[in-house]
Amino acid sequence: MERIDIEIIKKFEDLVKNSSKSIVLVPHTNPDGDAMGSVLGLWRVLQNAGCKVKVVSPTKYPEFYHWMDGHDEVINFSHHPKQSARALEESDLLILMDFNQLSRLGDMKPLVESYAGKTMLVDHHPYPGNFTDLTISDITFSSTAELIFTVLQSTGFAKYVDRNAATSFFTGIMTDTGSFDFSVSNPNTFEVVAQLTRMGIDQQDIHSKVYDNYSADRMKLMGFCLSNRMTVYPEYHAACMYITLDDQKAFNFKTGDNEGFVNLPLSIKGVVFSVLFTEKSKYIKASFRSKGEFAVNVVSEKYFNGGGHRNAAGGELYASLSEAVAQFEKLLPEFEDRIKQSVNSKS
Ligand code: 5GP
Ligand code: MN
Repeated sequence: MERIDIEIIKKFEDLVKNSSKSIVLVPHTNPDGDAMGSVLGLWRVLQNAGCKVKVVSPTKYPEFYHWMDGHDEVINFSHHPKQSARALEESDLLILMDFNQLSRLGDMKPLVESYAGKTMLVDHHPYPGNFTDLTISDITFSSTAELIFTVLQSTGFAKYVDRNAATSFFTGIMTDTGSFDFSVSNPNTFEVVAQLTRMGIDQQDIHSKVYDNYSADRMKLMGFCLSNRMTVYPEYHAACMYITLDDQKAFNFKTGDNEGFVNLPLSIKGVVFSVLFTEKSKYIKASFRSKGEFAVNVVSEKYFNGGGHRNAAGGELYASLSEAVAQFEKLLPEFEDRIKQSVNSKS
């Protein structure tokens, strides 16, 4: 496809074909649907092509992705650091997917930094760091899954994209676009989905496996947070929600149970900026979402040690929950004009 430089495509193909040992695929820490969809889709394609390939995830990921093809093969670094290190030692190509800076690897960062083989990054976040031999990065793609599929289509590996790989890539595109609600400003996304559909994917089944697979506790936590943990700031078109460690205990919180909560306030009339703070044992995890022009990655970078996309960003704050909320309330006046521009451009 014309959108990716032919030189880059060639380098991608050369790196993969020149690998004589094995290839390791790595998503970011706490991988989401796009990170897992991208690595597991590529894992399947490379397997089909006869390559030796492994997936090492820095941490675990939500159970509603455990149905995916290749899940049983994923090595979890946080549970199996030695096995992960061995997998890297025995390989000669590392493909990092869906993140733009090494800090997104969490505790796995030193292992990747000391890697002896060739490295490649495939990502769609703004401002990619320069830490790999080959960087395939393009923010005009809705998702890393759409990007890697598009790359593969221009290579000899295209014939190895089967229904299983297509299902993983679709999962990445579907989750990173909020089921085609955002990040789909480019028709390529739908062209890719059309091709995946021709490969026999069952869109309804995939959607159901990801979104109709939550526990009753998670639904109750959502209701509780909407009632008791959400503040709307109408004058700033903003909303803030938080979840304490005690709340998590009360509702048997499992990884991924808070997924999607941050989007909920955006369906309130007038709200274009939303934050969710989730208390962790050592820090506060922040999630930001916006509608329209207002760039939440700027907010996250400046005040929450994070980054991300214009309309979806995240970060971490080593502070208390009340300090995080205070920080958020304090920054609202600074961004008031930009938030209001976003409201006007949307209405
Ligand atoms: P989420 O709110 O779903 O955790 O993350 C939304 C997006 O923000 C992710 O796709 C990722 O691009 C970015 N993001 C989340 N957490 C972090 C973080 O700690 N640091 C950076 N740089 N980006 C993050
Ligand atoms: Mn992504």
